[in-house]
Amino acid sequence: MKYKKIECEVLVVGGGVAGIAASIKAAREGASTVLIEKNNFPGGTGITGLHRFICGLYANTEDMPDKILNEGIASEICSMLQELAPGKIPLRMGKVYVLPFATSNLMSVLRSLSEKEKQLDIYYNTEAVSAKTENNTIVSVTIQKLNKKFNIIPRVVVDCSGDGVIIKLSGARYRTTPPDQHQLAGYTFRVNGLKHVDDILAVKVPYYLARAVEQKKMPFYLKYTTFTAGDTEDEGYCKLNMPSAGIMEREKQAKKDALSVHTYLAKVLPVFNESYIVEMSPEVLDREGPRLYGKYTLTADDVITARKFPDGIVKNAWPIELWDQQKGVRYQYLKPGENYEIPLRCLVTKNIKNLFCAGRCISVTHEALGSTRVIGTCISLGEKAGREAAHR
Ligand SMILES: Cc1cc2nc3c(=O)[nH]c(=O)nc-3n(C[C@H](O)[C@H](O)[C@H](O)COP(=O)(O)OP(=O)(O)OC[C@H]3O[C@@H](n4cnc5c(N)ncnc54)[C@H](O)[C@@H]3O)c2cc1C
Repeated sequence: MKYKKIECEVLVVGGGVAGIAASIKAAREGASTVLIEKNNFPGGTGITGLHRFICGLYANTEDMPDKILNEGIASEICSMLQELAPGKIPLRMGKVYVLPFATSNLMSVLRSLSEKEKQLDIYYNTEAVSAKTENNTIVSVTIQKLNKKFNIIPRVVVDCSGDGVIIKLSGARYRTTPPDQHQLAGYTFRVNGLKHVDDILAVKVPYYLARAVEQKKMPFYLKYTTFTAGDTEDEGYCKLNMPSAGIMEREKQAKKDALSVHTYLAKVLPVFNESYIVEMSPEVLDREGPRLYGKYTLTADDVITARKFPDGIVKNAWPIELWDQQKGVRYQYLKPGENYEIPLRCLVTKNIKNLFCAGRCISVTHEALGSTRVIGTCISLGEKAGREAAHR
């Protein structure tokens, strides 16, 4: 079937934090760039996850713990966020530093940075549905907006879809983790009307839910629920962590779980008595999905030993943060002040010549993904992929 053609030098698929950074950088390097995003807003999981902190930004060294490890678009985003919310400054969380942020601010920063790029055309509400490959090269990607289809003819494609959509459609090699070893997925709800939120609530919420699980009142995974205070004194966020695979209609289950967690907390914790849910994640969000089988696969050992590479393009000091189905969250830290590098070879594959990959679906093992998947690192991976794609 013949569809209207759109030609470009760089096509970026997926407008999460990685895709926004990739498309901005490719455009700034002079490439005519098209970004397609199936939602009607930028930021992907960085927005829908209702997260409170950007991780993976800082060096965590003793003298300058909040020095940004990868300058560039990550720095620009941080400065703009801090201009919008000067009170939100880097914060120590355990052994590492994070940047608190409001999702609405992140969305407007990503919009304003991307919309001013003249070489960049952005199509929201648009999905990549198929790809044609000839001689190990992607020659076209079919996209769909409402019921209309178009063919994009790109020189290079950057897959920032999180789930490796183009990797799969183009026949590039990829790997998946067996479903029973997948990291727990997440589902967050925001409540208002809390009374006297204090720091202890972050301990009390999982404690009471663990008791409910012991008494068989709730499914086992609800003991991994976390609580974080919100921006106003009556606001809080509960993040449920649940098995990602094998649950039919998992959104329905997550919503049901959220309601039963909230009802239970209102019974056992007076602070929740008059609270009410004001927002829920639109869907259950995967920490882990299909990943490129790249020219190099980053391992846990590379992360923990702070390995450097001749083609290292992004630095990271975030620990391996694994949300295990049986044990809950486990952290494996690098030595204080150390960081490792992610090589360019994790973003490219042997069998498709004009494909780059950035964000959540780069070539890493299940364990290494526990460190590379955070927002700060995904922004920098996107930026580097955009630069490489523009000059290929
Ligand atoms: C439960 C949970 C909690 C987390 N907590 C934190 C935290 O506190 N701090 C932190 O820094 N990180 C956190 N993370 C990690 C972080 O949010 C993500 O790993 C990161 O945002 C991934 O960015 P990305 O751009 O690679 O992918 P995504 O955010 O997944 O973006 C991919 C984009 O591609 C789009 N897309 C998909 N398919 C198509 C298609 N066919 N056509 C067009 N567009 C498509 C999607 O709509 C999406 O917008 C968490 C993740 C989860 C799941």
